[in-house]
Amino acid sequence: MEWFRSIPKVELHAHLNGSIRDSTLLELARDLGQKGRVAFLDVEHVIMKNDRSLVEVFKLFDLIHVITTEHSTITRITKEVIEDFASENVVYLELRTTPKKNDSIGMSKRSYMEAVIQGLRDVASVDVHFVSRTEQAPSSLNSQSTENSFNGSAKKKIYVRLLLSIDRRETTVAALETVELALEMRDLGVVGVDLSGNPTVGEWDTFVPALSFARQQGLRVTLHCGEVPNRKEVQQMLDFGPERIGHACYFCEEDWRKLKDLNIPVEICLTSNIVTQSISSIDVHHFADLYRTQHPIALCTDDAGVFSTSLSQEYSLASSSFGIDKVDIFDLAYKAISLAFADHKVKDEVRKIFSSSKGQLS
Ligand code: 5GP
Repeated sequence: MEWFRSIPKVELHAHLNGSIRDSTLLELARDLGQKGRVAFLDVEHVIMKNDRSLVEVFKLFDLIHVITTEHSTITRITKEVIEDFASENVVYLELRTTPKKNDSIGMSKRSYMEAVIQGLRDVASVDVHFVSRTEQAPSSLNSQSTENSFNGSAKKKIYVRLLLSIDRRETTVAALETVELALEMRDLGVVGVDLSGNPTVGEWDTFVPALSFARQQGLRVTLHCGEVPNRKEVQQMLDFGPERIGHACYFCEEDWRKLKDLNIPVEICLTSNIVTQSISSIDVHHFADLYRTQHPIALCTDDAGVFSTSLSQEYSLASSSFGIDKVDIFDLAYKAISLAFADHKVKDEVRKIFSSSKGQLS
């Protein structure tokens, strides 16, 4: 496992509220328990449970959102999530989160995202690059160090870009609001939008206006696609031509054909798919076929906290399950760079980090 931790990696599918440390969730739940706002023992039981169906996962997210309501909590978890990814040598992270509105605590989608941005600024142990250097942002928003510190004595460096998620429970208007916000926050590292949330809720047509508008304005689009059987929706999503999709568990032959013809990259979340029983066992996971046919794919965690995993673990799992050696694992991680939504400059910087780490293959 140490080797998988040591190589540079690119994470393209990580949900903020799904990536919280168990210790932080428990601490926050205990605090709320003392204030009488949740029943701590019940919450502890749910948080510590390991096998979760897709239905249970979405119940857990509702609980997590109660625990992480405050702006200060959003800032804290963002900081910790970035530290955790950096600590396992993730050098480029596309972190996604659903901007939330909560009038009772004066939270707007914008103030939620400002709390996220504050979390990026608060990271001190790692150099966080979250604004492209070509952009006209105040220098205080940029990390000071530009040297490659991956193998050196200086602090580690991580490039962070953000995706704003549209929750499938939202209306067309609410989805459009999220896209507007994403556009306004482009100079703070927002590069695209995601459609996620309970796949049994909502209709594709509800989200098309917002996703089309996002695309028109130059934002990149990724969709959670085929998490439950829904042939019509899978076809509609593929026809939309997103820049990437996540999961692709319930695909029929025709869906695979279309995906491959259109060359749409897939964010692969092995542990998540197995734990939620979307895929019955690792040996029948579609990773094998996509990898063999050299379809563009990126291994991702989805929800490192909820599924008790890490990106290093996902690479280790792929290696042991599909017999992929170190050279090819390194290559798999490297190829994920080209699927990132960041600009070419950032991708070139990330490639340099990989090049300087090639020694780890010997
Ligand atoms: P947040 O957006 O609140 O930071 O992260 C948690 C949210 O991400 C969940 O409430 C859900 O909307 C979305 N999410 C996390 N994991 C999954 C997943 O595996 N499938 C889908 N469809 N949505 C997910």
